Amino acid sequence: MHAVNNTKKLKFIVVTGGVLSGLGKGVAAASIGKLLSSKLKIVPMKLDGYLNVDPGTMNPIEHGEVFVLDDGGEVDMDFGHYERFINTTCKFEWNLTMGKVFTEIRERERKGDYLGKTVQFVPHVVDLIKEKFFQVAEKENADLMLIEVGGTVGDIENEPYIEAVRQLKSDVGSENILYVHLTYVPIPGGVNEQKTKPTQQSVKMLTERGIQPDVIIGRSPEKLGDNVKEKIACFCGLKRNEVISGVDVDSVYKIPLIFEMEGLSGIIHKKLQIYSPPDLREWQVLVDNLNNLKESITIAICGKYTNLEDSYASINEALMHCSAQTKHKIDLKFIETTNIENGDISIQEALQGVNGVIIPGGFGDRGTEGKIEVIKHCREQKIPFLGICLGLQLAVVEYARNVCELYKANSSEIDKNTLYPVVDFLPEQRKIENKGGTMRLGSYKAILKEGSLAKKLYKSEFVWERHRHRYEVNPDYHQILQNNGLVISGISPDERLAEFIEIDDHPYFIATQSHPELKSKLIKPAPLFLGLVNSVISRKSPLLK
Ligand code: GLN
Repeated sequence: MHAVNNTKKLKFIVVTGGVLSGLGKGVAAASIGKLLSSKLKIVPMKLDGYLNVDPGTMNPIEHGEVFVLDDGGEVDMDFGHYERFINTTCKFEWNLTMGKVFTEIRERERKGDYLGKTVQFVPHVVDLIKEKFFQVAEKENADLMLIEVGGTVGDIENEPYIEAVRQLKSDVGSENILYVHLTYVPIPGGVNEQKTKPTQQSVKMLTERGIQPDVIIGRSPEKLGDNVKEKIACFCGLKRNEVISGVDVDSVYKIPLIFEMEGLSGIIHKKLQIYSPPDLREWQVLVDNLNNLKESITIAICGKYTNLEDSYASINEALMHCSAQTKHKIDLKFIETTNIENGDISIQEALQGVNGVIIPGGFGDRGTEGKIEVIKHCREQKIPFLGICLGLQLAVVEYARNVCELYKANSSEIDKNTLYPVVDFLPEQRKIENKGGTMRLGSYKAILKEGSLAKKLYKSEFVWERHRHRYEVNPDYHQILQNNGLVISGISPDERLAEFIEIDDHPYFIATQSHPELKSKLIKPAPLFLGLVNSVISRKSPLLK
């Protein structure tokens, strides 16, 4: 069955990438969304070519951060950009993966939906992909669907997506769809001029597949020269103003402003016959702040995937949001805690010049003893500390060992045989065998304790944050921890799960089982992150240079 567009006014923008990966297609798509979101209901969809159903089972070093949605969906990091730029709460079904597509094709085939037919890429796989676009658009009552095709044109795994978005043009009419192609315009060393050939070749690959781009964004270390735009336009069949500069920037939040200066929203309005004037005033003020940062502070992120900053993408973004709000430059120091536990580096050396510490989420035991040492040091030396997910669990382990005197207390994730499993599997997790999609995932409510730091920071009696974990603070130990001074400042509505902990008599020591970085926005930084940064700034610590 061919997909049909019933929603007459529905418009599509398709973003493809060429030349090489890592050019910022997700940010480009999100920025386009930002420019158009003042009056339109925009639904972003990301099409990933991999055969995993979702990225939940991938190593962050391989894939970057796994972003978690309110509905518990584990998705590509690009959804982080969509939510931070476009005022929307994304859903799991807005992420197509070949894993999902083929699972459904196989299910339909087994059910007999294709009885008598040979199941083929065209039409069956491509039709299923298009069906998903229209289903989501209809369900969300979208005005505009923003489709980002993963990878670069020519990748084998993305060909069915390219064919699907090509066919869309005849399904919805050329006046309802616009194709944006992001390419790379390098300035090779020694040549010192912007080279357009990679763009020409990548557009050629796209047109061979039947897609003529309406807009080309040329990512380059510098703004594209007029002659360069002219040349790209000439070779690729566009007008000069339809070639946009995607200049390298130090902050992704500048991209919508740059696109706007290049006239992108005007081109889109004209082609798609829509009008949704960008409202960038507040955004502009915060970006201006980022351009005028005062003195700097240093925040350490103690993890184990530290060789890839993408592993902690949302934490970096949350700190960037705090930077814009507080007008302080935040230098990040990534600390590999395995080096501390191996004795390669002392705590003092590792934390040299550090004003505040974040222990982010993580899995497995590697580096955990080093993190526990860092937490002890922060607690005792009164260094501002924020623990996230595993960071909370290890703060509890540290407190149990060193304050409650529970000898060698641990999380059962790290030591199965510990005498004191202060962090443990929940009974309902024990019977689960599959690894994919089976954690405690998505948005959960926590009730915040009267008079606590958590409540002060959130300015609310309860809060919804997103989760991604299997282990919990063991309820059997809540009382003993509290008797020894640990404050459980946020608890699940059934009062079983510790969602936030903190300690008194410390400038800033707080941790949460959730991932508040996932909901942080430029306009509204995550309260626990802002609290950490403000505490460092106001502390006037001798450490603060
Ligand atoms: N590994 C821990 C758990 O599964 C923490 C997970 C995390 O930090 N996201 O509970």
